Amino acid sequence: MSECIFCKIAAGEIPAERIYEDDLVVGFRDLSPQAPTHVLLIPRRHIATLNDLQPQDEALVGHLYTAAAKVAADEGLAERGYRTLINCNEDGGQTVFHLHLHLLGGRRMRWPPG
Ligand code: 5GP
Ligand code: ZN
Repeated sequence: MSECIFCKIAAGEIPAERIYEDDLVVGFRDLSPQAPTHVLLIPRRHIATLNDLQPQDEALVGHLYTAAAKVAADEGLAERGYRTLINCNEDGGQTVFHLHLHLLGGRRMRWPPG
């Protein structure tokens, strides 16, 4: 996906504050943080939304979550806690159409979310 901003970040073609990477996943700080820690974890491979997941992507999505837990531990959030979420399409509030897991922490999260 040549026009996808998160594909470009994954490829290192545009800058981002990368704090995690492995063969499958890249983690970087959100440009507009909504909490003291706000990291986005993305698969290197382009998947537009949760609706586009295929059965063969299940291990990849599991990996996204284990990567998020590692980043949370590295950021000192594990004990106090944190929130992970994936927005899907318009009602979910998705604005970038490359699947990403938000990791938010460092403050008390509210429920229900807005
Ligand atoms: P969504 O609303 O799609 O769930 O989340 C997209 C997130 O990506 C937003 O929190 C937004 O601040 C972040 N974002 C959008 N463009 C960029 C960018 O170029 N770099 C970084 N680091 N974050 C971005
Ligand atoms: Zn993409």
